Amino acid sequence: MPNLLAKTYWNAFTLWHARAERRLPYRPLSQILALQAQRVRTIIAHAYRNVPFYRDEMDRRGLKPRDFRTAADLAELPMLDGLQVAREPELFLAANLLHAPGLVLDSSGTSGRSKQIRYDARALFEALANGHRQRLVLSAFTGSVFGYREMHVVRPGSVAFQIRHFYESYSWTPPAVDLARQFLSPGDLPFAETVAAINEFRPDVIRGYGSYLGALFREAYQRKIRIHHPKVIVYAADAMADADRRLIEQEFGIPVSSTYQSVEALRIGFQCERLRGFHLSLDAVAVRVVDEQGRDAGPGGTGQIVISNLTNRATVLLNYKLGDVVTRSHAACDCGRTLPMIEAIRGRSDDLLRLADGRVMHSLVALEPLRAVPGIVQIQIVQQAPDRFVLRAVGDYSVNRTEASGALVRALESKVGNAGRVEVDWVETLPPGLNGKVKAVISELAGD
Ligand SMILES: [Zn+2]
Repeated sequence: MPNLLAKTYWNAFTLWHARAERRLPYRPLSQILALQAQRVRTIIAHAYRNVPFYRDEMDRRGLKPRDFRTAADLAELPMLDGLQVAREPELFLAANLLHAPGLVLDSSGTSGRSKQIRYDARALFEALANGHRQRLVLSAFTGSVFGYREMHVVRPGSVAFQIRHFYESYSWTPPAVDLARQFLSPGDLPFAETVAAINEFRPDVIRGYGSYLGALFREAYQRKIRIHHPKVIVYAADAMADADRRLIEQEFGIPVSSTYQSVEALRIGFQCERLRGFHLSLDAVAVRVVDEQGRDAGPGGTGQIVISNLTNRATVLLNYKLGDVVTRSHAACDCGRTLPMIEAIRGRSDDLLRLADGRVMHSLVALEPLRAVPGIVQIQIVQQAPDRFVLRAVGDYSVNRTEASGALVRALESKVGNAGRVEVDWVETLPPGLNGKVKAVISELAGD
């Protein structure tokens, strides 16, 4: 257990870093990129000295730490993915920090494969300070940076829960600058009790899984049940259905914000007051967006996001394919922040359909026309065989199921061909996977 001195140290550390957060997103981009480049050089030197994977790969390629000057040079490293890290996590661990204070985060990942990532205490507290960036945005809705009530709808044992526990055991927060927090586990309580807990706590901010919060407010709306209106809803982890977001914003009048984070790099991006796209925290993480040939996608381009975590020195992940497909923004944001943006997170790169004629199709191609069917809130494709699909559909209260079913089948057949069988299964909500997230595609094919 950390002693009071250690706790005081981490408090001072976090406050010092948090002070810089007010201005950092508005600094000239060249200054932010200079800070990023400095962190690239530091983490590369550390990785070469202490992390077996990078030492071996750099030696094999004849690369020395001095060859890495800016984030662009990280592309010289082999591209990693989650499977490699799940299989051989010890290759990415820094030998000098094996017993240093920190935390091992366990994530089941969207593939259901468990991944363990160790963080050193400094990286965790830097992420805490970085969170201030988003709190300043939320203050536009809550009216203050401290002292408001925040409800977290997360599963006990989730990554967010593990990190919160770490902060509470390694630091103390003066009550005057803290928040009143309450945790609620999604799905553990029946709908009515969940609503009662929210109405009793009266949170200013509700945070949680997008699919879950969307479904919760949709149900309250459809059943005409009174639910407390927070000043803002923040979701992360999995996506909120566009129809749910519109319902919450237009019918409840509650702004909906989102953050982009992952277990591999705790804070990748955040939405500003404009509530569109994500500003990338490039001081903490280097980001590339690449097409199928591994070439950088230009402004407005769509591709896989490749990140390098520049702050975590315990499990070092550089040039790492996160598994998300994203679209880069065309232009800068008019909020004044210089941090570049991605316009949208499109979906998971491993959501693939394998068709009877041998084609492999990304689910986004098939999902787009399905989501455009009138009355559809959410849709999930279950592939049972190369030519057999079940569409799990959630409709809004106005949907005509007979008409919509026909339109869904035609929309899918327009993409996958009409030789097979497509069934539509209407459900109230889509069941989340083991990690609490809702997948867009479930493959029941052998080998997946
Ligand atoms: Zn902005």
